[in-house]
Amino acid sequence: MAKSNLNEYSAKRSFAATPEPPPAVTAPGSGPLLFVVQQHSARRMHYDFRLECDGVLKSWAVPKGPSVDPNEKRLAVQTEDHPYDYASFEGVIPPGQYGAGEVIVWDCGVYSPDEGATWFHDRGQAEREVREGLDKGKLSVLLRGEKLKGSFALVRTKEAKQWLLLKHKDRFAAAVDVTAQSRSVLSGVAVEDLKVVPVRRIPAAQLVPSGKIAAMPATLAPMLAEPGEASFHRAGWMWEPKLDGYRVLAFIDARGVRLRSRRGLELAAT
Ligand code: MN
Repeated sequence: MAKSNLNEYSAKRSFAATPEPPPAVTAPGSGPLLFVVQQHSARRMHYDFRLECDGVLKSWAVPKGPSVDPNEKRLAVQTEDHPYDYASFEGVIPPGQYGAGEVIVWDCGVYSPDEGATWFHDRGQAEREVREGLDKGKLSVLLRGEKLKGSFALVRTKEAKQWLLLKHKDRFAAAVDVTAQSRSVLSGVAVEDLKVVPVRRIPAAQLVPSGKIAAMPATLAPMLAEPGEASFHRAGWMWEPKLDGYRVLAFIDARGVRLRSRRGLELAAT
């Protein structure tokens, strides 16, 4: 596989005329790698499957879209690397431009190669395994998206640039049409809505959690009940019957699970 570069991406587009992001190889991030699936209503409707690696998005056009049914192999035609920033692109590529049509972020999340082990915590090792897998024409990845979850494989065929995208058998495998869930995971719009609804973009870096993990809080203050004069209906509120007993906070980390009362008493024993 050629080294990452965005020359082909640039050559195909005129950035004065398209709202797509200009080419830029991003500096190495921290934290897990990003994947995104964009639905693209171009001359032919298709889905673009993209995996972050080495500061760009390795990309495949999947005409029928991904499937979560292990019996369905989906053709995935490798296309040019896209800039990292493309991952949050939703909008309309104007008529006459390359790929003219509407694009939504159909799914996104983090991923890791998962041959034997996963590397969500080690970006360097994750990228090494992605490079190796793409070179040898077989890459297995664990996706943590909103729609796509679990283990998938990309397998190169004998035809140039033609790969197969398939779902491994695991607890997320199902004989359902996942593309029936048609809305953007970012804006909630369906691709056909974009002709009339403009969407606001967020930076691609905001799609995934950063590598910084906050310290586990030692205490948390749950909301307390308070007396009121009358019931009301207001957005952000719901009603539940009052139950007497303890309110228990569960703290889960590498040391295990601790159950505490709101005053900090250890409750696991009771
Ligand atoms: Mn496309």
